[in-house]
Amino acid sequence: MTSAPDLAANIRAGQRRALARAITLVESTRPDHRAETLALLRALRAEPGRQALRLGLSGTPGVGKSTFTESFGMMLIEAGLKVAVLAVDPSSTRSGGSILGDKTRMERLSRAPGAFIRPSPSQTALGGVARRTREAITLCEAAGYDVILIETVGVGQSETMVDDMTDIFLLLLAPAGGDELQGVKRGIMEIADLVLINKADGELKPAALRTCADYANALRLMRSRRRDPDGYPQALAVSAATGEGLETVWAAIETLADWRKDAGIWAANRAHQAGLWFDDELRRAVLAQIDGNAEIAALCDRLRAGVASGDNSPELAAKTVLDALAKIRST
Ligand code: GDP
Repeated sequence: MTSAPDLAANIRAGQRRALARAITLVESTRPDHRAETLALLRALRAEPGRQALRLGLSGTPGVGKSTFTESFGMMLIEAGLKVAVLAVDPSSTRSGGSILGDKTRMERLSRAPGAFIRPSPSQTALGGVARRTREAITLCEAAGYDVILIETVGVGQSETMVDDMTDIFLLLLAPAGGDELQGVKRGIMEIADLVLINKADGELKPAALRTCADYANALRLMRSRRRDPDGYPQALAVSAATGEGLETVWAAIETLADWRKDAGIWAANRAHQAGLWFDDELRRAVLAQIDGNAEIAALCDRLRAGVASGDNSPELAAKTVLDALAKIRST
């Protein structure tokens, strides 16, 4: 077994196998693996590396996420950057169309020495996925990756979760048939920094350009939650298949990143995200204490029944549990 400082040194030296092993460790729920993970993260913290650009990428299945990741990733690799790709797919079963489950769709990128691709682990609850992804991001950053792309499918809460751990968020859309805005949820539009209309090539190009103009209008009318430079959030037409428009996407990302760094928004966002991470960990730890103690768990079951029948109130019942936990700790 490699010790945490040795594994940390191998990750810092850019060994992909060490990085892959470490991510397997963070994905494990075994208590001894958890202890090793914490030791590793502590060892890496001792010498923090440079910040990577953390990019979120979302889009419904079939919109072209894998194709985009392959060509956008290759463009960055050819520009001399190191690119890591992580997937967040709480619903995935490795066989059934999970994101990046099929690496053959990213044949060139998966062979490139400067790239690291990690599929989503199967069947993990959203909370577990959040922790695993945050820790995997930390590991990729320590390994010196310049860009970390975090892909997610357009379902449920996974976008918000990815937004909470990335610097810039890309939403990939397909050209619309009609003049309707594809029923994209408002919440997702609000977190997107760049809306990319993919498949702007061949017969689909006119529809893609029309869709792009529609989204540009919609984005202009929508007030962003964020302070942003003029022209953001932006809608751009791209073709992941031909690579057209991808350089413009990268330029738009760099402009926004630089602007946010100068305005102090970048650092404030990272600080806010670290706070959210802490809150999540704290909540998990308290819940784990409850689940890990048979007496408390039984008390919870009784209280839950009382709350459901109306005999007890949720806030009083919760306080009873906290008091019981405090009592255990003080004995
Ligand atoms: P994902 O499910 O979002 O990862 O989508 P894929 O990358 O697997 O792409 C789904 C389908 O769309 C595949 O048949 C791709 O070849 C096709 N596709 C992806 N990007 C483009 C594009 O830019 N232009 C065209 N014409 N087809 C594309």
